[in-house]
Amino acid sequence: MNSSTNPNRIYLDHSATTPVHPAVVETMLPFLTQNFGNASSIHSFGQEAKVALEEARRQVASLICAEPSEIVFTSGGTEADNWAIKGTANFFEGSKRHIVISAVEHHAVLDACKYLEKSGFEVTYIVVDRVGRIEPERVAHAIREDTFLVSVMHANNETGTINPIREIGALAQERCVLFHTDAVQTVGKIAIDVKGMNVDLLSLSGHKIYGPKGIGALYIRRGTQIDKMFHGGRHERDRRAGTENVPAAVGLGKVAEICQDRMVKDADKLRELNEELHSKITQRISNVHLNGDQNRRVPGILNLSFDGVENDSLMLSLDLQGIAVSNGSACTSGTVEPSHVLKAMGLPKNLIRSAIRFSLGRDNTADEIDRTVDALKGIVERLRAVRKGKKLFTTEMHG
Ligand code: PLP
Repeated sequence: MNSSTNPNRIYLDHSATTPVHPAVVETMLPFLTQNFGNASSIHSFGQEAKVALEEARRQVASLICAEPSEIVFTSGGTEADNWAIKGTANFFEGSKRHIVISAVEHHAVLDACKYLEKSGFEVTYIVVDRVGRIEPERVAHAIREDTFLVSVMHANNETGTINPIREIGALAQERCVLFHTDAVQTVGKIAIDVKGMNVDLLSLSGHKIYGPKGIGALYIRRGTQIDKMFHGGRHERDRRAGTENVPAAVGLGKVAEICQDRMVKDADKLRELNEELHSKITQRISNVHLNGDQNRRVPGILNLSFDGVENDSLMLSLDLQGIAVSNGSACTSGTVEPSHVLKAMGLPKNLIRSAIRFSLGRDNTADEIDRTVDALKGIVERLRAVRKGKKLFTTEMHG
């Protein structure tokens, strides 16, 4: 049976994306049908859309303790990251030209910086420790006279490791450098207070938290020096041109409200399931290594290496049994490139090539955890045996 027709499929890839919450769909629907107005129009259709858009902005702001006027809707996390990096670079071009980022950032940050390097900007890539954490002192050392931006992700999408954002933000503030954090993997999952975290810019995305795809936001602290990226109409208080995606923004607002209500309960459940998955795997399968911080991790993310197994084969075999996991970020899966995150953590090649990310969601069950561990045990044993057989065959053939 093809896994897409298997009713008993198990989805353990919630850090890649999530299903849209039914209440979110319900909230969005009228804005795709009868309330279809353009939020910039002055007639009643437009004004209805505008009111809904502003309510969504308030809901998103409330989730991260910001002012509604500090939230600008974007097409997702990638746009928010690109804007934070390139928008500040454009603003400071000619006066400052140095950026500090971590070596384990998402490609939306990394590649935006690589792009800027081509036009004369300089980027320092901060190394991480063995669990993927960024030491604030390293950031402090990297800041120069001409640094205009520090960008360090709140939590890593492959390992779930949470960074000391408040401390890094305070250091940046002390040196009068802007601070951006990519919080795509944490917003809606753990409490965020942008003021308390000393953040000037923060990226978030809807589809990681049971909202729709193609919507996110950039938090821009009032007074932050940043250029706009899109030019055209005077939408979003003249900060981002383009007719607003009202249905998606309304969906993001609703999901922000839902997350605020159930964040603590969900996090408790996810930590419990995660712990169960981890302990059952290590009890039943040998040579398994945890990649990431044992204690400071996003609830629900578990990155493990199964020594002696190729992660591609492991993922495919699991998929054939209807179990969806990932080898890290959705953006790098499908390519053969080894994870830049695990590489930066100093993992040896065999552990990088055998790493799998499980990312649990609020609807996963203890039964699904048991079925996953059963399947994993069988697959890992088979793949290890095949590898051993291959090695034996090669040795016999070549003496
Ligand atoms: N940043 C991080 C940490 C992510 O995990 C992702 C998505 O995987 C993104 C940015 C990009 O977000 P989006 O898919 O909304 O463009």
